[in-house]
Amino acid sequence: MNAKLKPCPLCGSRPNSFTDRKNNTKVCCSNLRCTLNDWFIYDDAWNKRPVEDMLLEALKALTAWAEHNVLYSQLKPPYWDIINNARTVIAEVEGDNKSQVPPEPVQSGE
Ligand SMILES: [Zn+2]
Repeated sequence: MNAKLKPCPLCGSRPNSFTDRKNNTKVCCSNLRCTLNDWFIYDDAWNKRPVEDMLLEALKALTAWAEHNVLYSQLKPPYWDIINNARTVIAEVEGDNKSQVPPEPVQSGE
């Protein structure tokens, strides 16, 4: 597996990795105070985050729902700020640093 390693699931610190004699990549936490500092875990298991994945999917669904409703109801801030924050979190979790800020909704005449 060559995917980018995620931060430690317990403390969020940077992971340390090494390749064993059988060419498997194993990972531990770089934080000496963390429980996972002296546990060596296969990289694919290290990157597996079922709860995080489930929450991410829920956040994406809520964000899409909010965007739809804000666009069609012409609601004003802070709703767009909330949506932009959610999209930033989604982008960070997915490791995508591209700007995810949606265009501002077209304002109808007031
Ligand atoms: Zn840790």
